[in-house]
Amino acid sequence: MESICLDLERSFGDLKQSVLVTNTERTIVFANRAMASLLRVEASKIVGSTTRRFFADSAQFERMAELYQRPSDESHRKQCLIEAVFGDGSRTELEVVSAPLFDTTGQLSGLLFIAHDVSERKKMESRLSDVAMTLEDALDAILEGFAIYDQDDRLVICNENYREIYATSAPAMFPGNSFQDILRYGLSNGQYDTGGQDEEIWLAERLQRHQKADGSVVEQQLDDGRWLRISETRTRAGGIAGIRADITELKEAKALAEKAYQNLYLMADSISACVGEVDLEGKCLFLNKTGCKWFNGTSEELLGTRLREKLACKQRDAVSGLFKEGLSGRKCSLELGMLFPDGVFRECQMDCNPRLNGSGQVDGLVVLISDITNRKKTERTLADLYAITSTRALGHEDKIAEILQLGCDHFDLPFGIISQVVGDHYTVTQAQSPGSIVEPARTFKLRDTYCALTLEANEPVSTAHAAESEFASHSCYKLFGFETYIGAPLLVDGLVHGTISFTAHELRKRQFTPSDIQIIRQFADWIGHEIARQRDHQALMDAKIRMERIASIDDLTQIYNRRAFLERAHLELQRFRRTEKPFTAVMMDIDRFKNINDVYGHAAGDEVLEAFSRIIGDQLRAADLFGRVGGEEFCVILVDTDISDAVAACERLREKIVSDCRMDRIAQTITCSMGLAQSAKEDVAFSTLMQRADTALYEAKASGRNRCVAYSRELEMKKLANIPV
Ligand code: GH3
Ligand code: MG
Ligand code: MG
Repeated sequence: MESICLDLERSFGDLKQSVLVTNTERTIVFANRAMASLLRVEASKIVGSTTRRFFADSAQFERMAELYQRPSDESHRKQCLIEAVFGDGSRTELEVVSAPLFDTTGQLSGLLFIAHDVSERKKMESRLSDVAMTLEDALDAILEGFAIYDQDDRLVICNENYREIYATSAPAMFPGNSFQDILRYGLSNGQYDTGGQDEEIWLAERLQRHQKADGSVVEQQLDDGRWLRISETRTRAGGIAGIRADITELKEAKALAEKAYQNLYLMADSISACVGEVDLEGKCLFLNKTGCKWFNGTSEELLGTRLREKLACKQRDAVSGLFKEGLSGRKCSLELGMLFPDGVFRECQMDCNPRLNGSGQVDGLVVLISDITNRKKTERTLADLYAITSTRALGHEDKIAEILQLGCDHFDLPFGIISQVVGDHYTVTQAQSPGSIVEPARTFKLRDTYCALTLEANEPVSTAHAAESEFASHSCYKLFGFETYIGAPLLVDGLVHGTISFTAHELRKRQFTPSDIQIIRQFADWIGHEIARQRDHQALMDAKIRMERIASIDDLTQIYNRRAFLERAHLELQRFRRTEKPFTAVMMDIDRFKNINDVYGHAAGDEVLEAFSRIIGDQLRAADLFGRVGGEEFCVILVDTDISDAVAACERLREKIVSDCRMDRIAQTITCSMGLAQSAKEDVAFSTLMQRADTALYEAKASGRNRCVAYSRELEMKKLANIPV
């Protein structure tokens, strides 16, 4: 035994590992210095005692006795953990490796134990486990799903969110399972939406991307409609760390926002005003369809440019001023006329609204340009119409001419026509046209005019481009080629009178608007009233003329009656005073007229009066005056005629009566006597002159009738003296 001990001492004495040898009864026969130090006793003090004393758990000591019962056990080293009690009473865990010892005859002679204090390792393990737990807690605290796979692509760790995100695949997510197997499990259980792609292809692509692990972001759709954003990177140890975020809400919000934007653009595109957005430098960020049309370009061409540079200098300055004010944070607006790049001049209202960024600073402007040309034009036209219709300075036709001109200006069309329509006859009554080529009284067939359509519709009709409307098939288009037309029916006292229309051979850049229709309706209404008023006025004038005629013409002879004759005679006297051109007054009286009445009846007398008047009237010049001043007494004024010429003229008249004033049933020769007096400077009233002529007539009767006598002072004296002739 001694020698064995010496051998053991030689073999294990200085070994760093703790070595202990027992006999088969487990009595300690040797312990090296490392073991003594480990067990905290002197080696000599434990030799001879059993190892039981070092077992905190005696049951374990018993179990260890069973380690080498069968011969087959002998070749095995056994390793176990025991809780050991040291010499100083302290305890620790030891990892003990045991091996049987045999003597030269092959008999089991003892057991060799090599012990390690594993308390430090245990401590380290426990600390590592703490770190792992802390890591797990930390991973669970992040909102994204997180997983790490090792270099063989086996799951090392993942957080709860990872399992929750891929709830269907969760059962396969245990450490050590490969990424591919977890994917396959998920695929076969309906975890993913492969978008109709073959599963193997989908899987291959997914694995390829996973292996790339380049940190790029990819989106993945799950079968339940959720969307994930995945980012995978390679770890320093060669594994793959992946992070997944649920972006379903983000996606939905984005889709909603996109839709909202689309609706906004749709809205912006569907309005007839120009809507745009500009940045701080005035460069266009957005322009709606109308804006693109006005600025004559596609949005690709116009975005990023300063649209105001396409305007004339003066307008550009005005717009710059407005932008400046807008960029200072104030809402502002401006009315100005602009010639746009599409060639159309528009009166516009520009509204500028500052656009604010997240921190409340102005970072651009939203600009709205509304075309108010029509509104402005309508306002002006209505004001002009009022001015024309309310003035007293213009006559009926002039007012209508002015309205036609106003319409031509308002609609910007060269032809303006008022027509009267009867059946299929269309007659121009008034017109405005270049070089006055359409003249009043020109006639057309109604069916060859667009006005036929207006009268059919019984309301205003219009086209700004006949070729592209139903007007193209109308005979007016074929005959005259008018591209633009607006017309309205003219009603006079509720009945169709004709039309008012404006036309051009050219097509119109602007469509007619509801206000244009209102304007032509106003024109038609007013002209209808004006025509009615004019008709009433004409009727009144005709009646007045008739009345005047009735009042001044003698019924029987159709020449002036006494009152009318004297009125005109008075005027003639006034004219004489101005011009000093003499005239001669002639009093005529039919001789022995009473006798005709008495012999042939009053009606025959009337006939003689008629014939007498007709014969004398026919002989007189147009300027001479002729009136019936008594029963069968007449008076004539021979204008521009002195007494001697007058006497000659009257002689011819007298003879004409003798020769022509005959009636079958009247045997008596009809004659007349005439007294003449020339106008004199001293005449104040015509009655004086008439009296003088009457004096001469008296002389004619007295001197035998059927003769002409000129007035003379002597006759006057004679008459005054009442000396019978
Ligand atoms: P003297 O030659 O002197 O003129 O004779 P006289 O018969 O013509 O006489 P006087 O001039 O006095 O007669 C006028 C007559 O004329 C009187 C009247 O009966 C008649 N007389 C007046 N007016 C009309 C009328 O409208 N028709 C008809 N048939 N006779 C009338
Ligand atoms: Mg008489
Ligand atoms: Mg008489």
